[in-house]
Amino acid sequence: MSGALVKCLICETACSEFFHKKIKSTFYQCPNCALIFKDKASYMNEEEEYKHYAKHNNSIENEGYVAMFQDFLDKTVLKDKTGTKSVLEFGSGPGPVLSELLKREGFEVDIYDKFFSPKKVYKDKLYDYVTSTEVIEHISDPVFIMNFFNTHLKVGGYLALMTQFHNNKVEDFLSWWYCRDLSHISFFMPQTFEVLAARCGFEVVYSDDIKVILLRKN
Ligand SMILES: [Zn+2]
Repeated sequence: MSGALVKCLICETACSEFFHKKIKSTFYQCPNCALIFKDKASYMNEEEEYKHYAKHNNSIENEGYVAMFQDFLDKTVLKDKTGTKSVLEFGSGPGPVLSELLKREGFEVDIYDKFFSPKKVYKDKLYDYVTSTEVIEHISDPVFIMNFFNTHLKVGGYLALMTQFHNNKVEDFLSWWYCRDLSHISFFMPQTFEVLAARCGFEVVYSDDIKVILLRKN
């Protein structure tokens, strides 16, 4: 790819590129929205991806894992919840912990996962909330997925996302555990979500500046 000008997948600004020697992958960094994304030549194939996710052993018995999700819910969908609300839990994974917590909190929950719960339950449906944790970093086209979320939210509905934010410094990125997970291909900052939100009909209403972001559909 050397020499070719690669444009940002979100805002189409010309990106700079850098190479991660340890994982032998090229990444692109947008100077405008701060999206960092992996070159497609380094993507896993679907079979490798499936095996990778199936290894994740995230169960409701894992206290640390449950506490992390409870914190996520407290910061997002539980903030001003009244009455029964519907939620699409997108990318629920092999052990759907978050959907169990959402049910305990009184939500009507639909789950979808490309590998582990592939029925398109969201078809022709609009939700009050969409939750998606540790998913968007696996997605090659952030605009496409944000438009998908928009399509399945009511006006004024909320999208709650969890993904580890980078700090936009290449030297830190290169030693960051999060980018060494070979299934991670897109990396965000709150600033990235500001640009993404403006493009896809959302508004950022909250971020913890670490890994949680809450957006409202306009
Ligand atoms: Zn950009």
